[in-house]
Amino acid sequence: MSMHLGFIGLGKMGGPMAGRLLDAGYTLTVFDSRAGALQPLVQRGARQAASAAAVAAEVETLLVSLPTPDIVKQVALGPQGVASERVRKLRNFVDLSTTGPRVAREIAAGLAEKGITAVDSPVSGGVSGAVKGTLAVMLSCPQECRAPLEPVLKVFGKLFYLGDKPGLGQTMKLANNLLSATAMAISSEAIVMGVKAGLDPRVMVDVINSGSGRNSATQDKFPRAILPRSFDFGFTNSLMYKDVKLCVEEAEAMGVPMWVGSAVRQLWSYTCARMGPETDFTTIVRCIEEWAGVEVSSKVKTD
Ligand code: NAD
Repeated sequence: MSMHLGFIGLGKMGGPMAGRLLDAGYTLTVFDSRAGALQPLVQRGARQAASAAAVAAEVETLLVSLPTPDIVKQVALGPQGVASERVRKLRNFVDLSTTGPRVAREIAAGLAEKGITAVDSPVSGGVSGAVKGTLAVMLSCPQECRAPLEPVLKVFGKLFYLGDKPGLGQTMKLANNLLSATAMAISSEAIVMGVKAGLDPRVMVDVINSGSGRNSATQDKFPRAILPRSFDFGFTNSLMYKDVKLCVEEAEAMGVPMWVGSAVRQLWSYTCARMGPETDFTTIVRCIEEWAGVEVSSKVKTD
């Protein structure tokens, strides 16, 4: 019999990750608060549960991919959450979301009281990585959980074990996303400056990607979502702001300076207000464009 897993949160990341588990032969019981998110998985053979607690009643291992730390905490520890069911099988709660190390530690302590092990396993690599199974998966959990969980997590991409302390995977993820956010913000400033001076943005991106300025924004985001003006990379401004904010707060709490990180946080706070929290995070470039009065576009100008 195939291993039976639970999966809660079937959004842009969770949907394709759960789909890969079905492809790999796992039996899934799923839940999402949006009916539209459940349908594609149920059509492919996943069982639909009526609530998070109902998933926990059916499985020993549960994975979640949820938007914010508060929601992850509610689902883990809240009165209707996965630890609330009286007849409960759940042993492992695997958090694939970006939740931050402090909440990860709170969840680990709260679930431990119920005999459930919290496993940190945030991911990086975007929606395309979730679809293709090429994510970086950042695992921290007790040693004894590794053998049963690693084959499951390898379905999502390349697995990195970071240690047994709760929250280590989350700290790794925040460091990664601070870099990703900073690359996006600073590349937007540099390319808008070049365009205003008369450079062709496509040529700029090609030069940068052959030179020392290349980064994840110039290699992935500009060619795929900014130069074609589609702004559809698959990650919202609100989630990017959440990640940078969590990172800067964490650094502050540890006494680590983050001058650049603080500026990036403020820029993302402005982008959420100006472009909308649910808009794609590549729209940050439009904030810089508006101020500068130029547009970064691959379309050839005819005038
Ligand atoms: P999303 O908003 O597309 O998906 C979240 C899903 O959770 C939605 O389907 C929503 O309906 C569901 N949900 C919300 N509250 C719920 C609740 N209480 N119970 C059950 N379901 C609930 O978000 P996403 O982009 O898939 O991101 C999910 C997590 O992964 C976030 O923590 C994000 O920071 C992280 N992440 C996202 C990306 C990306 O590129 N999108 C990359 C790496 C990590």
